[in-house]
Amino acid sequence: MPLEISWKITFLLLFIIYSLVRIPYAIRNKKNKAIKNQSPLKEKLKVFIAFQGMLTIPLLYVFTPWLDSFAMNLPVWLRFTGFAVMFFGILFFAYIHKALDKNWSPVLEIKENHELITSGPYKYIRHPMYTQAWLWVLGQFLLISNWLVGIVGIITWSILYFTRIDNEEKMMIDQFGNKYKEYMQVTGRLIPKVF
Ligand code: SAH
Repeated sequence: MPLEISWKITFLLLFIIYSLVRIPYAIRNKKNKAIKNQSPLKEKLKVFIAFQGMLTIPLLYVFTPWLDSFAMNLPVWLRFTGFAVMFFGILFFAYIHKALDKNWSPVLEIKENHELITSGPYKYIRHPMYTQAWLWVLGQFLLISNWLVGIVGIITWSILYFTRIDNEEKMMIDQFGNKYKEYMQVTGRLIPKVF
């Protein structure tokens, strides 16, 4: 299907822009020393696995015919929905990164001079970056319209999310004590708390 290639190129462009938002923080924050970290090897492995679902497998579909038999051929409006979710997801991602700034790291760690951020998107939700990642894997499912790529994306991200979230909150409580506990009272994990 000739149209398929344009969705694949769209995915590639979105992924490139997404990476361009992150790379400056990744470079800068590497220099920012960690004073505490949680099972760094296990964390790195889980990040690596999630990355396969968000990049390697989609790229296999983009550049080879090997996964073509899993194509779902979703209607155009669903693909546009996926595109919109990913596109606005990138804007949200830039806003989150700006708010978290030097406190961001790909693995669970506390940096030197780590600050607890409670402003911007963090005013309402404790894990906006993870909200964004959920939206991203769902958007990718619709845009790419290949059930294998879609499901692998969701599974690999779920592994990272569900094995990390409690540990992350425990780590934040260890570091910030009551301040984080109070912050938990007024925020939701992934979506704003409705009273
Ligand atoms: N879970 C957050 C951040 C992901 S990056 C989100 O989804 O937006 C992971 C790192 O962010 C962790 O190592 C932790 O040290 C840091 N972190 C998480 N919440 C934070 C907060 N409110 N303020 C500062 N740092 C935070």
